Amino acid sequence: MLRKLRLLVLGSLFVLLALIVLSLTSVRERVSGLEGGNPTGPIWFVTGIEYDLLQLELALNDYTLGRSGPEDVNRRFDILWSRLVVIQKGETADKLDQYQVDRAVLGRLFTVLQANDSLIVNLPQQIVPNSDVRRFLDEITSYNSDLRNLSLDVLQASSRLSKTRREDLSAISTQNSILTGLVVAAFVVLGALQILETAQTKRALKEKERLLQDATAANVAKSQFISVMNHELRTPLTSIRGAVTLLNAGAAGTFPEKAKKLLDMVQKNSEQLSLLIEDILEIENLTAGRIDLRTEVVDLAALIAGEMSNFQAYAKASDITVTLTSQDGIAPVKVDTKRMRQVLSNLVHNAVKFSKPGSTVGVDLTQTDGGVVIAVSDTGIGIPDDTLPKIFDSFYQVDSSDSRNKGGTGLGLSIVKNLIQAMNGTVSVTSHLGRGTTFYVVLPAASGVALTSDVQAAE
Ligand code: ADP
Repeated sequence: MLRKLRLLVLGSLFVLLALIVLSLTSVRERVSGLEGGNPTGPIWFVTGIEYDLLQLELALNDYTLGRSGPEDVNRRFDILWSRLVVIQKGETADKLDQYQVDRAVLGRLFTVLQANDSLIVNLPQQIVPNSDVRRFLDEITSYNSDLRNLSLDVLQASSRLSKTRREDLSAISTQNSILTGLVVAAFVVLGALQILETAQTKRALKEKERLLQDATAANVAKSQFISVMNHELRTPLTSIRGAVTLLNAGAAGTFPEKAKKLLDMVQKNSEQLSLLIEDILEIENLTAGRIDLRTEVVDLAALIAGEMSNFQAYAKASDITVTLTSQDGIAPVKVDTKRMRQVLSNLVHNAVKFSKPGSTVGVDLTQTDGGVVIAVSDTGIGIPDDTLPKIFDSFYQVDSSDSRNKGGTGLGLSIVKNLIQAMNGTVSVTSHLGRGTTFYVVLPAASGVALTSDVQAAE
């Protein structure tokens, strides 16, 4: 949440800074637009033409009165000519257009100059009565007032424009002050967010430390519990089981039928309790990484075949048949045989446990590109889709409905998964509710490796 807010403020800050840069750029343009009155500006040119026209008129008067020669007239004529040429083209002309003043008078004056060019160029040194010169003088004199008006128009337009520009600048300056204020506010918010975030991180760190302490304490408690279970429960239970087995075997003589039944019950329950303790200790060791694997390269087909009589004997009690099919030439695999038997036993026992009497549990061995595959399948009650991902978790049992209540600890599949992973394999499951389940164990093929164990003579 804070992070999102920070990003938002940073984004706004970026936009604000971009706006300030844009606004400063437009200030530069506007400031450069204010220089209409400088010596290259239109006002300067127009008043210059007005002045040069008066100078030409003065020179012509002096000439006609015989006070000066034609050179002065020629010089003034040329100056006026060139100034008119400049003002009618390029930047100055553009600016005049921008001021929206009528500059036609300049064109007309220039036409008059062009028409009298040869008259002025050929003025004789000696003054002779010349009506053309007088006419020219009268003609250009008539432009004085038009040029004055043009000068005034340009001046007015220029000050109008300057006023607008100044107003613009003042608006931009206000705008910039607001933007700068916003930038400062954004920085303040960023600072506040930073402080909040640091406080939050500190809090999270403290919480983590607390959790860590709790976890360490829980771990210590768990280790103590496991140790108690190992010594205080497992050892006496072994003695109980031993004693009951001996009693059941008639070591203390025969018992009446009722007592025999009770003894059977004690034996069965103590065996179950013992299995639970073994499973808990096993999963504890597996998840803590305390697993001592004695791997060897074995022929899996032979290993499974060796286990079949055990499976069949177990399944027979539930009127279930266990079959084995195996592809020829299966590559050997590198496993801990004792652990592998444990895996197979867990899977087959589950398959039998959740199958209907009279059905068959299949153990199939094949080889694919992915490795050697053991599939243990049944046609039993199946597993609901939504619980499939959880069945490998420790202590997870699908539910305790009557149809599923078959005893067990919820640890078998977790042990299978941990063992197979420790042997570099994978385990997966597919199931259809009411139609059956198949577990797949895939182990890497140790192709081309010599067998290091003959497992056919299974224990
Ligand atoms: P449990 O000791 O309860 O069998 P497992 O870890 O072996 O514990 O199995 C977990 C749960 O997965 C079982 O309680 C059962 O509901 C379900 N399950 C396992 N194998 C099968 C199977 N072949 N058919 C149907 N359900 C199964």
